[in-house]
Amino acid sequence: MGDTERDSKRDADRRLGRRALIVGGAAAAVGTAALARDELAHLWWRLPGVERPRVAGAVDFRGARWIAASPANYRRADRPDDYAIDRVVIHVTQGGYASAVKVFQDPDHRAAAHYIVRKDGRVTQMIRELDVAFHAGNREYNERSVGIEHEGFVERASSFTDAMYAASARLTAGICTRYGIPADREHVIGHVEVPGTDHTDPGPYWDWDRYMRLVRSAMSPRATKAATKTTTKS
Ligand SMILES: [Zn+2]
Repeated sequence: MGDTERDSKRDADRRLGRRALIVGGAAAAVGTAALARDELAHLWWRLPGVERPRVAGAVDFRGARWIAASPANYRRADRPDDYAIDRVVIHVTQGGYASAVKVFQDPDHRAAAHYIVRKDGRVTQMIRELDVAFHAGNREYNERSVGIEHEGFVERASSFTDAMYAASARLTAGICTRYGIPADREHVIGHVEVPGTDHTDPGPYWDWDRYMRLVRSAMSPRATKAATKTTTKS
């Protein structure tokens, strides 16, 4: 680019300083929308610690449906920059999908997970992975983990369907890949394994061997290549 162009680029960078990142929405509103969006998209990489701009309705897992949880049920954060993520916590809702969504939207519930997986394999995201969801009943574990709820009951083997295992395993594989978490039982744990908990989920009918096999196969180079191919085609 020419000198004039470079200068105006530099000016734009200066204009879009830390403040512009924080008021990203406002900057877009004053008519520099395209430039602001463009600059915002790469500036946050250069300025660690600045809160990342968020897109309403964006999800971390492709194909997930977004339904926002009440902000009372999580804490805004900037993971993995402020807290490293090294655990996935598996839960069972002790109820149906609709009632889980309802309580996660309820500010008085004071708890919610990032995701809910339904019996039919549909995945709903209610809290961004950036944020600390109140799901494990243990502050340190909340800060370091992503929580996945599964529709159903710990005491009912029939709660856990093939579609649910397959979808949840893809979800966990994606989380492990994103944050470099080993796909093993030390890092993919049940709520029951969180220190200090009195919860028993996912319970005796959750098939860990099968689940971890599915997670690992979803993370294999061949699976990754197939997923990339599908993406390129569609
Ligand atoms: Zn739980």
